[in-house]
Amino acid sequence: MSGGYEVAYLKRDQCGSDIVTFRFERPDGYSFKAGQWFTLRLETSQGEESHTFSHSTAPSDDCLELTTRMSPSAYKQALYALEPGTVVHINGPGGRLSVAEDVTRVAFLAGGVGITPIRSILRDAVARGRHFDDALLLYGDRDASCVPFLAEFEAMSDIGVRVVVVYEHPTPEWPGESGFITADLVRRHLDASDGRQIFVTGPPVMVSAIENVLDQLEVDASRRHIERFTSPA
Ligand SMILES: Cc1cc2nc3c(=O)[nH]c(=O)nc-3n(C[C@H](O)[C@H](O)[C@H](O)COP(=O)(O)OP(=O)(O)OC[C@H]3O[C@@H](n4cnc5c(N)ncnc54)[C@H](O)[C@@H]3O)c2cc1C
Repeated sequence: MSGGYEVAYLKRDQCGSDIVTFRFERPDGYSFKAGQWFTLRLETSQGEESHTFSHSTAPSDDCLELTTRMSPSAYKQALYALEPGTVVHINGPGGRLSVAEDVTRVAFLAGGVGITPIRSILRDAVARGRHFDDALLLYGDRDASCVPFLAEFEAMSDIGVRVVVVYEHPTPEWPGESGFITADLVRRHLDASDGRQIFVTGPPVMVSAIENVLDQLEVDASRRHIERFTSPA
């Protein structure tokens, strides 16, 4: 990982029933690539803890953001209690998740807050005038109350982004995909044998389930790009 920085916390935005984006100032000299992560150290009621978060902003944005699902953990409570102006310590950037410049056909299979590095990558693509022949985003989450950035992704069709939302618990009126991301569901939206690069990001349980799906679709390891949101605890 690159280095440590003191940054001011700026604000938070609720972007789903239990999903919150936290914004921080961007320190001088801090640069990162779309898809990379940083760690944020906080003083919690149980002592100091550092957690890893993917950047949910693009490298060209003038602030740093993380997006997370709230939980009762001491860390998340400390995060939520931050007052604007509070100075916190971050370390970064780290990670190798990126879409090579010559890739024009790609699929992103993201679950829940696993969407964060994908948002960074796609925001970056828009900012740099990049165009995909086909960038399928298969975006799975619990229900319609918790799909951050959906409108932003749906507005990216002009750069080749195609969004398919999969709700685990849809309303009866939902006309789209529901349940989990399975091999049959993936086959309905892409030909996995077309050689495209496939990115899978999210909580470890979801990532393991989708790796099984990729096995069934016979996607070889060289086309898989995996980011597991593991927690050291
Ligand atoms: C590469 C990478 C990228 C990630 N990106 C994101 C992201 O963009 N958004 C996101 O929400 N999460 C991301 N994560 C996961 C994140 O780092 C935390 O694991 C997650 O936020 C769970 O935190 P929690 O406090 O809700 O823990 P819970 O799931 O509630 O954890 C239960 C217990 O474990 C403890 N715990 C969890 N993590 C740590 C830790 N790091 N150190 C000490 N104790 C811990 C908690 O305090 C709690 O007591 C990423 C992880 C990795 C490895």
